[in-house]
Amino acid sequence: MFHKILIANRGEIAVRIIRACKELGILSVAVYSEADRDSMHARLADESVCIGPAASAKSYLNIAALMAAAELTDAEAIHPGFGFLAENAEFADIVIESGLVWIGPTPESMRIMGDKVTAKKKMEIAGVPLVPGSDGAVETIEEAKAVVKKSGFPIIIKASAGGGGRGMKIVHSEASLANAFSMCKTEAGAAFGDETVFIEKFLEEPRHIEVQVLGDTHGNLIHLFERECSMQRNNQKVLEEAPSPYLDSETREKICAAGLAAARAVNYVGAGTIEFLMNSDKSFYFMEMNTRIQVEHPVTEWITGVDLIEWQIRVAAGDKLDFTQDNIKIKGHAIECRINAEHPFKFTPSPGTVELYHAPGGRSVRVDSHLYTGYKIPPHYDSMIGKIITHARDRKKCIRRMQRAMDELVILGVTTNQELHQRLLANPGFQKADFNIHFLEKWLRQMRL
Ligand code: ADP
Repeated sequence: MFHKILIANRGEIAVRIIRACKELGILSVAVYSEADRDSMHARLADESVCIGPAASAKSYLNIAALMAAAELTDAEAIHPGFGFLAENAEFADIVIESGLVWIGPTPESMRIMGDKVTAKKKMEIAGVPLVPGSDGAVETIEEAKAVVKKSGFPIIIKASAGGGGRGMKIVHSEASLANAFSMCKTEAGAAFGDETVFIEKFLEEPRHIEVQVLGDTHGNLIHLFERECSMQRNNQKVLEEAPSPYLDSETREKICAAGLAAARAVNYVGAGTIEFLMNSDKSFYFMEMNTRIQVEHPVTEWITGVDLIEWQIRVAAGDKLDFTQDNIKIKGHAIECRINAEHPFKFTPSPGTVELYHAPGGRSVRVDSHLYTGYKIPPHYDSMIGKIITHARDRKKCIRRMQRAMDELVILGVTTNQELHQRLLANPGFQKADFNIHFLEKWLRQMRL
């Protein structure tokens, strides 16, 4: 096992990884920007190193500074968390070339899955169902028109190198096709340095369901069932749960098998997620694979009992999975609410000093956060300041538990989305599990919030 790990991240996920290191008896090195000097992750780690000014480009994305920090502290491995450099294959290459261990999949699997056109080609060969659309990249407007002739409107034009909900354009009619196509190409070039775009049929009311997988370097690969992530705003997840209340056991078996086939096709090692869109007739399509740990991993940990961060580290150290697919059973239901420092209905960010913080507690409530009373939330980074996760025997009880946890939560001094969660948890459509990816936005519009 490793002696010391450097965590190339900040905030709640850095804290989560430090906690796993401590439980494994591994020393941890935190890196922090000048804006994060007083951050929880810098305090909790065994050592911490300043890697630059507040701007991410000069600190958390600064590969030279990160490598220098690893060298300085004698770290043997690097855990990238999520966001920042977590899906950057070049960073993984540099880590490995420097003789350190990359806690994640091989750079090769990252490269294949990071390019959506390449990934879809690979998935097609592996027999994983794809959203109907273009056969690979679409280069000219004539080609785009030919694709639409077959699929019909609406369509979605996507940047092959896109991510994080960016680089996509929905087109409803022929009139706006040419313009949207050239704009998407130009924007993709500017944002991702790659003008390649492709076209998919835009599914009108799908659910977002994703499969968690875990593989080791000895050829073992298992799935840890699915997560339901349809509660989104601006393609950003707000609340996630596991298992999906929408799936029957037959569909669950099929989608988990598809997730495994996708991961196997790229010889996946470590923790990864295959995202699918599912229609109301329960047909589902591969959307993309995230080659890293995800924000919503705790709901899976709770229903399966598997510590995903611990296993990311152990697998990177060469350990064999000490359980098989048959050992993994779904136990109860788990829900995660993302707590953001932003206005609950206008979504404007609200950085500033936390005057008072009181976390919920009690039976089957987990809080993953870097908050403390007096902490100054910097304006430079993501607005997520924590996650509350609850578990119970069934979904109904789990919702109740989340409602009481949400009522216990006190964050004063900054505005948070606590009230959004409180209203959402009380919403009959949510409670009946009758929703798709547009539910939250539609509801916000109806309430004129
Ligand atoms: P990113 O890599 O930027 O996250 P994704 O391909 O995962 O992009 O898509 C993000 C979100 O966009 C999905 O969760 C879904 O809400 C929506 N989306 C993507 N493709 C489609 C599609 N073909 N039809 C309908 N919605 C889609």
